[in-house]
Amino acid sequence: MNAARPTAQHVLVINAGSSSLKYQVVDASSGAALATGLIERIGEKTGQVSHTVGDCDHEREVDVPDHAAAMAAMSEAFSEHGPDLAGVNLAAVGHRVVQGGPEFSESVLITPEVEAAIEDVSDLAPLHNPPNLAGIRAARETFSDLPQVAVFDTAFHRTMPAHAATYALDREVAQAHRIRRYGAHGTSHQYVARAAAHELGIAPEQANLIILHLGNGASATAVANGNSVDTSMGLTPLEGLVMGTRTGDIDPAVVFHLARTAGMDIDAIDTIMNRRSGLLGLAGSNDMRDVEAGVDAGDENARLALEVYCYRLRKYIGAYTAVLGRVDAVVFTAGIGENSAPVRARTLAGLESLGISLDPVANETRGTVRISTAESRVAVLVVPTNEEWEIAREAVAVLGG
Ligand code: AMP
Repeated sequence: MNAARPTAQHVLVINAGSSSLKYQVVDASSGAALATGLIERIGEKTGQVSHTVGDCDHEREVDVPDHAAAMAAMSEAFSEHGPDLAGVNLAAVGHRVVQGGPEFSESVLITPEVEAAIEDVSDLAPLHNPPNLAGIRAARETFSDLPQVAVFDTAFHRTMPAHAATYALDREVAQAHRIRRYGAHGTSHQYVARAAAHELGIAPEQANLIILHLGNGASATAVANGNSVDTSMGLTPLEGLVMGTRTGDIDPAVVFHLARTAGMDIDAIDTIMNRRSGLLGLAGSNDMRDVEAGVDAGDENARLALEVYCYRLRKYIGAYTAVLGRVDAVVFTAGIGENSAPVRARTLAGLESLGISLDPVANETRGTVRISTAESRVAVLVVPTNEEWEIAREAVAVLGG
């Protein structure tokens, strides 16, 4: 019956953080996940493995002193609860790598040289690249017969023109320290750009989009003819939109002011701006659901937080409309983008002059959906992101599949 259908190519997708490791076995052609899992509290006294196959969740406490032990715990979960990895016939292991620096503009097969290059740019993402590398090394030991592929969160943005990627900072200082705008969330923006083009019925390489990835971290990307031409995150994920715990755009002189006037050291300021600001800093919670509940309950801090959040989004939509000229669609994705009708409504209110008109009824619907009115010149879409599928696809593409 299905003789013409290509055989499934499964990829084990790994996202290794400093204290956690997420994994998923993904069918690269359909995006179907055969199993997903999360290992938490790596490096602490007792860790936790959560392994999900179909509707069944399996949770267990384990000793995971490091990423190698986490990889062993993951293999054990597969042996115990399935699917049998040997039977699945994995094509590759695909690794999420946060920072590819100036070198990597696409996904690559991991070689010792690639590993060294990822290590070399670790100073640009000191919290992320070292655990990503630990995951790569542990996976290489455990799955020594499988190709390992690195998929960089910065790669999609390497098409940004110099005028968008360059800070007006002393040129020699910037060059010496590789300071430029790299962006992030590239894997998500790339997936969503293609899915949105599909939804619009146009070729991905023709699509002009403003993509708003609104999760706990958040970024906006301007996509021209399928390529990223600007994005709101910069050297690090701190720049741009208001996020769960990050300030987003702020006068850099706030740093000098806190250092000189409040006598704070640089690590304390880093913590405030990256971990104690954003929605959390303004409203007391980094979860938009709490902020919305606060607004409904008449909490003034929550109301201001929501207004600051949506106002920043509106400014980026305006800026990226100017960047793109023609905009086919504004696309919402990730936890807040996919689920918060109030954020979408508040953000787009009053943008009719830009050709954007929201349908309030459609805005309440879920899934991949068009939420603009029939008259809206610019479509407004909600597209659930799927970074794991994109990583699986990239891994297969690198292998020539
Ligand atoms: P992500 O990082 O993409 O997993 O997004 C996580 C964030 O999505 C959470 O911190 C919440 O702020 C937000 N979120 C998830 N579900 C909802 C919802 N139903 N309404 C509003 N925000 C939500």
